[in-house]
Amino acid sequence: MDKYEKIMNLAKRRGFIYPSFEIYGGAAGLYSYGPLGTLLKENVKNLWRYFYVLNEGFIEIDTPTLTPFEVLKASGHVDEFTDLKAFCKKCKKSYKAEDVKRGDKLVCPSCGGEIKETSQMNLMFSTILGEDRKAFLRPETAQGIFTDFHLLYRFVREKMPFGVAQIGKGYRNEISPRQGVIRLREFSMAEVEVFYDPKNMNMDPSNLKGELPLVVDGEVKKMDLKEAVEKGIIEHPALAYHILLAYKFMVACGIDDEKIRVRKHRKDELAHYAKECWDIESYSERFGWVECVGIADRSAYDLTAHTKASGVDLCASRRGEGRIKKKIVAKLNVLGPIFKELTGRIKEELEKMEPPAEKKEITLDVDGKKIVIPEDGYEIVEEKESVERFIPHVIEPSFGIDRIIYFILEHSYVETEKRGEKYNLLRLPAYIAPIKAGVFPLVNDDRLCKIAKEIEREMRLEGLQVFYDDTGSIGRRYARMDEIGTPFCITVDFTTLEDDTVTVRYRDTTEQERIKRKDVPSFIKNQISESLKNIFND
Ligand code: AMP
Repeated sequence: MDKYEKIMNLAKRRGFIYPSFEIYGGAAGLYSYGPLGTLLKENVKNLWRYFYVLNEGFIEIDTPTLTPFEVLKASGHVDEFTDLKAFCKKCKKSYKAEDVKRGDKLVCPSCGGEIKETSQMNLMFSTILGEDRKAFLRPETAQGIFTDFHLLYRFVREKMPFGVAQIGKGYRNEISPRQGVIRLREFSMAEVEVFYDPKNMNMDPSNLKGELPLVVDGEVKKMDLKEAVEKGIIEHPALAYHILLAYKFMVACGIDDEKIRVRKHRKDELAHYAKECWDIESYSERFGWVECVGIADRSAYDLTAHTKASGVDLCASRRGEGRIKKKIVAKLNVLGPIFKELTGRIKEELEKMEPPAEKKEITLDVDGKKIVIPEDGYEIVEEKESVERFIPHVIEPSFGIDRIIYFILEHSYVETEKRGEKYNLLRLPAYIAPIKAGVFPLVNDDRLCKIAKEIEREMRLEGLQVFYDDTGSIGRRYARMDEIGTPFCITVDFTTLEDDTVTVRYRDTTEQERIKRKDVPSFIKNQISESLKNIFND
């Protein structure tokens, strides 16, 4: 059994991940999260929010997955979001061409024959809104952010840069998803679109402290980020910062930092919208290096495309010298004697108007009355705007949550032996673990069970997911918790009856200590929040 099989067996047996619709033979590329998987996934999403929404101060939104045709036509996905499909005429199987390329030939992995037939396949699932409006299930969450740009820019009071985060499902009709949970047709994405003024994509250099395992000329080299920017390996500091942040997130999830590398896309792999893109890849024993996060410089591509196609101006402004603008200024010494007490209202309405190309009489509607302004009742003056308009540039870190979850499981999985028996555990960070603590009576004694159940209840009301268990030996119960990555176990024993203390057992060291029973919820909460804070203190 290889590691992937072991992980997927554990995932199914202990309620992390199940192949979906199995009673009907299953469906490639569709997986469900079981009870523990759902908790784990929620914790990963919340860690991501901790990084991007709380730490960075980005705003988070939630937009529909159903997307009208026009949006994805404008964004280029209708024409460009394709994969080359290879079809074997002999055995009738189809493949993604890049998966079956051997040298400069396409070879069928099933029958060994050379494949000649290829065609481009669009990866979006199409559907219909109502009776006849063409639409797709979104292939990325990003477009829902771009199309609301004008509202979001106003929401942040027109400050630049600012980031907008979104977590949600993305759908891609992958040609032949044969890689289990790694290549799905419906998956969860966590994306940020960070909008920058392209004239100011600098970063405080103190934000670029750290070395990353960059793939340079086909080899992994630990490289200082500032150096990578100075040498032009990474395009600019803002992109470098987001690569670093995404890398830190992967490590904080519990993914082995020895099995992460950061690779720049070749020109021929760049998505249609990207100017430069870096992948954070993680190593799996079965699949090799797999992309988990893509950090792309999308430049002004999307906002330009949507401005053109929708006619809505998706621009931002900066202080500076803008266009020369003409405007009307009312001449009160002429209008006053004619219009008397109406003059104030007339001035207001008149100065709101676009100036005519040539001076002439103007007819105005003021509160339902037709007013004719004589040619000498106003002036046209030229004014330089004090703001310049520009289309913001976008840096996009895009995370595949399901792949990250798979790697968390694979890299935290440890096999050991205990008293001659095989024993495995998941070394999950406490803030990621689905169950925070097991709560046990040492033996099945009514007095101990009662106290343990009270502790369970108190912890649940404090927001902690805990698991009460009074069956089997205490050793078996610890083992069951270790196997699903529970970081702490609380045990009520006979000493509890005398001095109101319980034991806390730590998963990774198996060490135990006694604490006051009433302190249990705050003790566990503190342990979790301290480990979270340490992420940014290191
Ligand atoms: P992309 O927009 O192609 O860079 O995708 C963003 C992230 O989504 C990738 O880094 C992957 O982690 C994830 N992803 C893309 N395609 C799939 C898929 N078919 N199944 C699961 N995750 C995917």
